[in-house]
Amino acid sequence: MRVSFDLDEVLFVSPETHKTEPPPVFPLNLLFRERLRLGTPRLINELQALGYEVWVYTSSYRSENYIRRLFRLYGVRFDGIVNAQRHLREVQRDRKTVLPQKLPNHYRISLHVDDEEVICTSARQNGFHAYQLNAQDDDWAEKILQRAKEISEQERRFEQAKSSARDQK
Ligand SMILES: [Mg+2]
Repeated sequence: MRVSFDLDEVLFVSPETHKTEPPPVFPLNLLFRERLRLGTPRLINELQALGYEVWVYTSSYRSENYIRRLFRLYGVRFDGIVNAQRHLREVQRDRKTVLPQKLPNHYRISLHVDDEEVICTSARQNGFHAYQLNAQDDDWAEKILQRAKEISEQERRFEQAKSSARDQK
């Protein structure tokens, strides 16, 4: 199952309002100015160890390469990255109507973590689950792990029901 994270205000937070991971060592701290929410590397590694794919889905224009290099400093490797450029190329394309800023369902992402109300409230109708995260929360990682487990259990039961319905035909 795939889980994705927004960057701004979710994995990237301000040390003035949130607990953060230590910055990269000089001079990398000047190159990579974003600060990671405390517990980010641990949560992502743990999700991956449990068998989840972890993606980034951001509406920012940071390059995939920049995002990969920054997170590699923290021992994190994402399974996929969708930035604004990729979303426009693969999701929005040449459609006349403007699609929502993010459609995790397009990438078969089951759970997306975001700070934006509009993305979270429209999640169900767009075919994915959302976890809204914004303020400092000491238990954020635990809550997201819990949510991921619930959804993967739901999906497992749904698949089971589907295959037993098939068997009965
Ligand atoms: Mg955000």
